[in-house]
Amino acid sequence: MTPDMDMAISALGWFGLAALALAAVTFAGTSVLERRWRAMGLAALGSVPPLVVGTCVLIGEHPLKPWLVLAGLVVAVLGALLIALPLSRPSSLRVHGPQLRVDERDAIFHRFYRLEPGTPEFEEYYADHPERRNLDERIRALPHLGHPGTRAYHPLASPFQVAASEVLTEATRNIDRLHQPLGAQPVRTTAEEATRRIKGFSRYLGADLVGTTLLNPAHVYSHVGRSPGRWGEPIDLEHTHAVAIGVEMAYDMVRHAPGAATTTETAFRYFEAARVAMLVARYINRLGYRARAHVDGNYRVLCVPVAADAGLGELGRLGLLIHPRFGPRLRLAVVTTDLPLVQDKPVCFGVQHFCDSCRKCATCCPSGAIDSGEREIHNGVEKWRTRQESCYHLWRVQGTDCAICVRVCPYSHPSTLPHNVVRWATRRSPLARRLASWADDLFYGRRPPAHTRLPDWHAEDRAPGPRP
Ligand code: SF4
Ligand code: SF4
Repeated sequence: MTPDMDMAISALGWFGLAALALAAVTFAGTSVLERRWRAMGLAALGSVPPLVVGTCVLIGEHPLKPWLVLAGLVVAVLGALLIALPLSRPSSLRVHGPQLRVDERDAIFHRFYRLEPGTPEFEEYYADHPERRNLDERIRALPHLGHPGTRAYHPLASPFQVAASEVLTEATRNIDRLHQPLGAQPVRTTAEEATRRIKGFSRYLGADLVGTTLLNPAHVYSHVGRSPGRWGEPIDLEHTHAVAIGVEMAYDMVRHAPGAATTTETAFRYFEAARVAMLVARYINRLGYRARAHVDGNYRVLCVPVAADAGLGELGRLGLLIHPRFGPRLRLAVVTTDLPLVQDKPVCFGVQHFCDSCRKCATCCPSGAIDSGEREIHNGVEKWRTRQESCYHLWRVQGTDCAICVRVCPYSHPSTLPHNVVRWATRRSPLARRLASWADDLFYGRRPPAHTRLPDWHAEDRAPGPRP
């Protein structure tokens, strides 16, 4: 090897070491800002041996030095290519046949928020589903979310979540009364122009995500359950299009799950999504078209599949929508309408493949509600099964909406440089998805603990003062 080649290889070696040191410092520094001490320690310790060995090789005068440096560079480049190259297209959710409309009375919440013991509806429901009566009675005997007697109850902090939920329920009660057109004649416009204005208005109002799609009739509930309206009434929604709205949940609040702070965040972000959806629906009404907002506790459609059709994310093992940047830290609302809109494309960025090997939500779920096995075909769609009753029972014991699965999901990490680089690679490469799942366990733990430093206004470590 000539002296010139020797110098060039040495320069490349120093460049590689500098890149490695920079990556380690960036990751460790970000981990400090995120207060993830385990990740910070491992990044600092793990980068020392390759940096020391590389420096010794580069400053040494061994006859094999150029070949050793060259071998290190080749391994690094091949590794980077394997992680970054889109070697195969990720597979999306598989639909195997026709989907039947879902009865909202089969969703768990109506049994506890709508059915009153002693009413004809109550007796009719349990005559049809006697197998659910015993467990439901045990759940019904528990205190409600955010109330005294639950594990997470704190007299100064729990009322935040209760207040947000109550105001949301009051604000959205009359949605059905208001969804007719309000203009004399529909304003003439194109689908492109209407979509552009609706998306812009939604973002202006506070939506982090907005997508539009054709409304799949299979995603409209068949009968009224929890939502306002006559219980068991068939749902007749002749809207053709849908706007899906997503609002990010703050990472710093989600990381306290299953504490009350996360439920405060959940309720508040549902409120934000509902506010945007109701204003957008009213705007469409004012254009002279039918539109209805579908918000927490008041749905006529299934939000997750509608949002997936509108390109907001993919369904994950935990049963929630996963967005490429926010993961499952997202609350949704939908507006359906007969105003023609442009159809966004569903996205596919490897969630199904990632979830196959990750299973972290299933490992960490305290109630065993998330299946750790293979996908099954449910109503024509291949997906993971979740046990609603086990999940909701845990909520009532804890007094919050738990959300441990949302907190531990690797897609939930905040939007910082190292996590965004991992997101970029996992979108493209199956190997990167496997490595990211393994590295998440290594750096953050298979069962990452909840963060305990709450915001001062939500602190639960101080005893409440004397009652007036
Ligand atoms: S919210 Fe909690 S109990 Fe329910 S599925 Fe997630 S981790 Fe399990
Ligand atoms: S925790 Fe893992 S398995 Fe569960 S939804 Fe997130 S990526 Fe999928």
